[in-house]
Amino acid sequence: MTSSLDDMYREVILDHYRSPRGRKPLDKANILSDGINPSCGDEITLSAQVNGDIVEDIHVDCKGCAISVASGSMLAEAVKGRSLDEVRQIAQAVRKILKGEEDAKLPEELEDIESLRGVRQFPVRVKCALLAWVTLLEGLDKLEKSQTDNSDTISTEEKD
Ligand code: ZN
Repeated sequence: MTSSLDDMYREVILDHYRSPRGRKPLDKANILSDGINPSCGDEITLSAQVNGDIVEDIHVDCKGCAISVASGSMLAEAVKGRSLDEVRQIAQAVRKILKGEEDAKLPEELEDIESLRGVRQFPVRVKCALLAWVTLLEGLDKLEKSQTDNSDTISTEEKD
């Protein structure tokens, strides 16, 4: 990776950190999921309004380091207006990217998220970037199972 590419990635992450997307609370939500990343102290609450098959709106409330907040902001931007299947595919692709699987593919218009690849140079930060996406996947699972109990908080520590 060249240093200019590094700078570009840093700019994208800082931009999301300074003005996170998806900060507006939702009137109603049918996905609610909490996540924590104890190794850094990041906390996230994610809610989404799903109509039929489409994620119509999403609210991401993340308190933590720049990487976790930026990653949550990218998530909010990426999933709004997409189908549940697309959202799941994107979240799984991001998880693969952060785990270093080079074949993971994202839709072209989501190039901001590519900047998270740079986080892999700092293994301790990978969980910060992962937090929003594993929390989203957990929320999707809950919706699928139509569980009404939203009380469990998932942790990056419990997943590999
Ligand atoms: Zn963090």
